[in-house]
Formats: sequence, C-alpha cells, structure tokens
Amino acid sequence: MSESSASVVKVIRCIVCPTGCQIQAISKGSDIVFEGYTCKRGLEYAEQEYYEPKRILTTTIRVENGFLPLLPVRTDKPILKEKLDEALSEIAKTVVSAPIVMGDILIENILGLESNVIASRNLTQK
Ligand code: SF4
Repeated sequence: MSESSASVVKVIRCIVCPTGCQIQAISKGSDIVFEGYTCKRGLEYAEQEYYEPKRILTTTIRVENGFLPLLPVRTDKPILKEKLDEALSEIAKTVVSAPIVMGDILIENILGLESNVIASRNLTQK
C-alpha cells in the first residue's frame, strides 16, 4: 500500500523512424519518466515533445503582382508549438512581391525563433 502513485500524463507517438513506438510520459512523484521507447533517439524525441514541442509551420502568404495571389510557405526549421498562432499572424500581415523562387527566404528569423519562412514553390509575375 505504500507504492508511490504513478500515472500516465501524456502518450507520445515517436515519429523519428517508421517503427512508431508509443512512448508514455509517466508522473512519478515530482519526476517525469518515459517508457516505451526502444532507442535513445526516441527518448530524445519524447523529451523534446513533452517539454518543448515544436512544429514546422505551413501556410500561405499574400503576393502582390504574382501569377497567383497566394503562395505556399513553410518554416525551414520547427518552431515552438506555442508560437504557431503568433507566427501565423505575422505571416498574415506580410505581403511579398513576385517573382519568387522556391526556397527564397520571405521572412527572416520570424519572431526571433531562429527559423525562416521560405517559399514552397516558384511564383512568376502576372
Ligand atoms: S523509439 Fe527509436 S525505434 Fe522507436 S520509433 Fe522512435 S526512433 Fe524508432
């Protein structure tokens, strides 16, 4: 009866390789431990995803003078999940000019997150 209580606080699917291990973040007293990973990369992924999840942001940006009015863009590095909405607002405020080449940096170091917003395709002028 004196066992300290342990409970699963988050289940994380590792996406580092196709095996897709299901990793559990378990609360034990004041600690969080991870179970279910089968390699070190999985543990690192689970720790990152639990403490500081990040995502690649994909969206569109407005273009003046372009063959199309919107251009698909993405961040070139994952950014903090909690900053995604703020980054989307920043992109929504921005208008870029054609012509644009895939990979062009359209917003450098967005929100100071050390990630650039880049073009996902070419876009010619109209
Ligand atoms: S824990 Fe290791 S083996 Fe499992 S999915 Fe992640 S990287 Fe692959």
